Amino acid sequence: MKEFDYVIVGGGCAGLSLAYELEIHEKLKDKTLAIIEPREEYKKDKTWSFWKVVSHNFEDCVKKSWENFTINIPKKTNHLECTSYPYQSVDSGLFYEKINNKLKKNKNISFFKNISEINSKNSFVFNSVPSIKKDHRNLWQHFCGVEIETKNNFFDDGIFNLMDFDCDQRESVHFFYTLPYSKTKALVETTWLSKMNDGSQKDYDHQIKDYIENHLNLKNYKITYKEEGAIPLFYPTYERTNNKLNIGTAGGMTRLSTGYTFLNIQEHSKYLCQNIENISKTKKFEISKKYQFLDDIFLRVLDENPELMPNIFFKMFKSSPKTVIKFLSNKSNFLEDLSIILKMPKWTFVKALFR
Ligand SMILES: Cc1cc2nc3c(=O)[nH]c(=O)nc-3n(C[C@H](O)[C@H](O)[C@H](O)COP(=O)(O)OP(=O)(O)OC[C@H]3O[C@@H](n4cnc5c(N)ncnc54)[C@H](O)[C@@H]3O)c2cc1C
Repeated sequence: MKEFDYVIVGGGCAGLSLAYELEIHEKLKDKTLAIIEPREEYKKDKTWSFWKVVSHNFEDCVKKSWENFTINIPKKTNHLECTSYPYQSVDSGLFYEKINNKLKKNKNISFFKNISEINSKNSFVFNSVPSIKKDHRNLWQHFCGVEIETKNNFFDDGIFNLMDFDCDQRESVHFFYTLPYSKTKALVETTWLSKMNDGSQKDYDHQIKDYIENHLNLKNYKITYKEEGAIPLFYPTYERTNNKLNIGTAGGMTRLSTGYTFLNIQEHSKYLCQNIENISKTKKFEISKKYQFLDDIFLRVLDENPELMPNIFFKMFKSSPKTVIKFLSNKSNFLEDLSIILKMPKWTFVKALFR
């Protein structure tokens, strides 16, 4: 069986981002790479959105960028600006196409459906398939989004809605998220932060229909695309050995309080590429311990007091949006952290700290 210098298990966001980074930095001129990916064909299956706090390789896959957004709780709306760090949406279809077109030009890169087709004994393996043990105590961000199209102009595409909590909470944390791509097209997503113990929050189609028709007051529209997913708000099991490390969600690249992962994956890929010559001895790249600690307390509060969360999120954005965005994107300094922490209900957080 064929052997390779590097093996990437999972050709999704993290696997392909890493392969692309290695390819554009000419790290695969004299090295071989196998990408293990079971999917039959690549097509758009996700929309990755994030505040652009660092540069990335996929500017040409950005579907839309915004510099204004809102956050809502019942009867209150906060209008915010994000000119310094625009919010971008990357189309996964364009992302897959761009990367695969580049990779297939290099004869040193091969694709396989299953790892059993190669001999990976002497390879360095980057694994992006998470090992998730079922545990009813774990929190998830689970969601379903639809892209809709209207005949007439309906949306203001200069501003997106990050969180609209003016909806049924069902003793959990629930919000809608709307990204208007144009005056006639938008992604509308229902999002829950919960334990997913039963399927009772999964009547997504009904939730979305009700929100579009009775909240946005839009009656004439058609659904052109649908995506559904669940992001673990806990770290999957991670076993590092001398010749294997995890990347992507499996590698702890999700910011647990928000689910944002895409830009962390891009930073991780750059780091791995810079250290590829000495990869087995390279220090593990991780989201800073400061955020891991703060997110842990935040999720404990969320778990115990879901009813407080709409107000907590709303208040958080009463700090300067730039500060909040830096905090949520792992780029804040001590004073910025402090200004966010001081906006939180102190006793609730102190109690969670000692729980
Ligand atoms: C619908 C959805 C929307 C999201 N939106 C955002 C967002 O807006 N912003 C953000 O920052 N994050 C978002 N995320 C979170 C995160 O960015 C994505 O999940 C991202 O795709 C994670 O990349 P990954 O490579 O770790 O996993 P994936 O992209 O899922 O890649 C894993 C790959 O492994 C393959 N695979 C599975 N089993 C095997 C196997 N046994 N052997 C080999 N390969 C296998 C899969 O086919 C897949 O291609 C979203 C997640 C989902 C599910």
